[in-house]
Amino acid sequence: MATAGTAAAAAPRGRQAAGRGLDDENLVFDTTPGVEAITSFDQMGIRDDLLRGIYAYGFEKPSAIQQRAILPIVSGRDVIAQAQSGTGKTSMIALSVCQMVDTASREVQALILSPTRELAQQTEKVILAIGDYINVQAHACIGGKSIGEDIRKLEYGVHVVSGTPGRVCDMIKRRTLRTRSIKLLILDESDEMLSRGFKDQIYDVYRYLPPELQVVLISATLPHEILEITSKFMTEPVRILVKRDELTLEGIKQFFVAVEREEWKFDTLCDLYDTLTITQAVIFCNTKRKVDWLTEKMRSNNFTVSAMHGDMPQKERDAIMSEFRSGVTRVLITTDVWARGIDVQQASNQYKALLPLQM
Ligand code: AMP
Repeated sequence: MATAGTAAAAAPRGRQAAGRGLDDENLVFDTTPGVEAITSFDQMGIRDDLLRGIYAYGFEKPSAIQQRAILPIVSGRDVIAQAQSGTGKTSMIALSVCQMVDTASREVQALILSPTRELAQQTEKVILAIGDYINVQAHACIGGKSIGEDIRKLEYGVHVVSGTPGRVCDMIKRRTLRTRSIKLLILDESDEMLSRGFKDQIYDVYRYLPPELQVVLISATLPHEILEITSKFMTEPVRILVKRDELTLEGIKQFFVAVEREEWKFDTLCDLYDTLTITQAVIFCNTKRKVDWLTEKMRSNNFTVSAMHGDMPQKERDAIMSEFRSGVTRVLITTDVWARGIDVQQASNQYKALLPLQM
């Protein structure tokens, strides 16, 4: 149950746990009966100037998750969506948020929490792009950036805040981020947020939000702690499962090469470069050490590569990202700090064969 918040400015939440009492047996759930797949953006009741934004952004048809989740969200329901990166979830968030905010007011009305700074920024970017014609104001409230800038932006007035739990919590406690008009909370990649140790901050943030809150939770997996959140924060949520075979969007193909031995991986990677035309590639490694090792190895084989991981200062991370987005470097080797939510195709606004590889 929610307990009282600590800042005098914000009203503590009094809402009781109200969910469907999901338990461990429900770890993989089915979509709630009655959830329809709406195959055109035009039929979702989305405002015209926002529709213009979607089409101008280059989307023609909603993806599986967008077809199912947008309508329940914009009609005010709590929603649990089991979906991963690559399903179109970021645009689903952007679209729903833009549809719901009243841009005549300058108050924060929607709050999105994400596990990484990159994802929070990416979400802000997609909101600003899709919501261009409605003049939505969004701000990424993330660690590693100037607090002064956060204060300036928030005091000027924004409709949407997309942030990481720590910084958002801090801004709320400083009373710079005013919560009284927030009507929608979106928890993106909730399982990742919990595995990065953000549980306390998420609960803290929730306590400062108004009682009449709509909550949307997105998660690739549904471990016990997620179900705890859903039962504490949500009221009769609509459940939406995007099945594996619906995961990829048109135009995206996935392949895998089963490499039996670790020491064969580098040669396999070189084979790929010999046989495919790869304009840009992101190579994901599971450790920072492996990022360093592979970077060295590729450089000594005359590849021009960039490398990035979560221990780098934010400035350096940003510089490497923009280097890669602009095409200065064509290979980016990284840990999964980068994996979530980065959209190079859209960012550069030109077609690129982006090849994500897992080493
Ligand atoms: P996401 O899962 O939000 O990271 O999106 C994965 C990729 O799909 C990004 O490149 C999006 O720009 C793209 N995308 C999302 N929704 C659509 C759509 N309806 N039509 C075409 N591309 C989309």
